[in-house]
Amino acid sequence: MKLPEIKPCPHCGSPARLDTQRFKVDYTSTLQAEYAVECTNLKCWATVGPQDTPREAIDVWNQRAT
Ligand SMILES: [Zn+2]
Repeated sequence: MKLPEIKPCPHCGSPARLDTQRFKVDYTSTLQAEYAVECTNLKCWATVGPQDTPREAIDVWNQRAT
């Protein structure tokens, strides 16, 4: 599955990247993943998510960027 292109940050214009966060759910010990899109400018902190799928995270980000 090809993911949509991630638009630049609407706040500062820097490239944004997809971030995958994996964490353990204590009571089941299963690994879950969440996806966020965040600005690569460390002084900006723009971020969306977490969402359940990479596509959702990118869609939410791109909607905000337009
Ligand atoms: Zn930014």
